[in-house]
Amino acid sequence: MRRKRGNLFVISAPSGAGKTTLCQKLKEIVPDVKFSVSYTTRKPRAGEIDGIHYTFVDEDEFRAMIADGEFVEWAQVHGNFYGTSKRRIENTISEGFDILLDIDVQGARQIREHFSDSILIFILPPSMDELKKRLAGRMSDSPEVIARRLKNAIDEIREYKNYDYVIINDVFDDALEEMVAIIIAERVRTSKIEEAWIKENFIKEE
Ligand code: GDP
Ligand code: ADP
Ligand code: 5GP
Repeated sequence: MRRKRGNLFVISAPSGAGKTTLCQKLKEIVPDVKFSVSYTTRKPRAGEIDGIHYTFVDEDEFRAMIADGEFVEWAQVHGNFYGTSKRRIENTISEGFDILLDIDVQGARQIREHFSDSILIFILPPSMDELKKRLAGRMSDSPEVIARRLKNAIDEIREYKNYDYVIINDVFDDALEEMVAIIIAERVRTSKIEEAWIKENFIKEE
C-alpha cells in the first residue's frame, strides 16, 4: 500500500451553508471517500434513512453509548444530541479510505484533540441573508428551528480560525471544486506515503 492510512476530514458550517449538498456531490466525484454516519437523537427529516444519513436513537440509548465510551466526540447541537462512533472512524481510515465527518464546531475541536493529523474544513455561506434564504428554501425545518439555527450561526462562524481551510459556498460548482482539490492534495502529502513501500520498490538494498 502506497498510503499509510486514509485521511480524516472534518467539515463544519452553520446550518444551511450547503455542507450536506457539497458532501453528497463530492462522493460522486472522488473515489475512496466514506462518510461517517453520526448517531443523533434528532427526529428523521422527510427522506432521511436510518443508518444512511444518521443512526437515529433515543436519548436513553445515546446516554448509554456515552457511558460505554463509544463516542470519540459528542455534542448537543440546536437542542439535539449528536455523536461520532470511534470504531467506525478507526475501521475506515485503517482500511485506507478517507473519511468525512460532517460535525459541528464543538465536535471538530474534540476530533482535533484525538486525531492530531485530522484536516478541518469550514464552509461559509456568501452572506447571512443568503443563509436565511437557504434555510427557508430547504423546507425541512419549522420557523422556530430556523430561528434557533440562525442565532447559533454567528457563534459557529467565530470558530473559523480553528480550521485549516475555509470555503465560501457561493457558486456551488466553485465551492465543490475547492473541496475536491483539498481532498486530493491532502492524499499526496509526503507524510502520507508509506516509507516501507518506497524502500521495497526503489531502495531494496537497504
Ligand atoms: P478495491 O477498492 O479493493 O477494489 O481496489 P483498488 O485498487 O481500488 O484499491 C485497493 C486498496 O487501496 C483499497 O483498500 C482502496 O481502499 C485503497 N485505495 C486505492 N486508492 C486509494 C486512495 O486514493 N486513497 C485511499 N485512502 N485508499 C485508496
Ligand atoms: P447544511 O447541510 O449545511 O445544513 P444543505 O446542504 O442542506 O446545508 O443546504 C441548505 C440549502 O441550500 C439546500 O436547500 C441546498 O440545496 C441549498 N444550497 C446549497 N448550496 C447552495 C449554493 N451554492 N447556492 C444556492 N443554494 C445552495
Ligand atoms: P442537522 O440536524 O442539520 O443534520 O445537523 C445539525 C448540526 O449537527 C450540524 O452542524 C452538524 O454538523 C452537526 N452534527 C451532525 N452529526 C454530528 C456529530 O456526530 N457530532 C457533532 N458534534 N455534531 C454533529
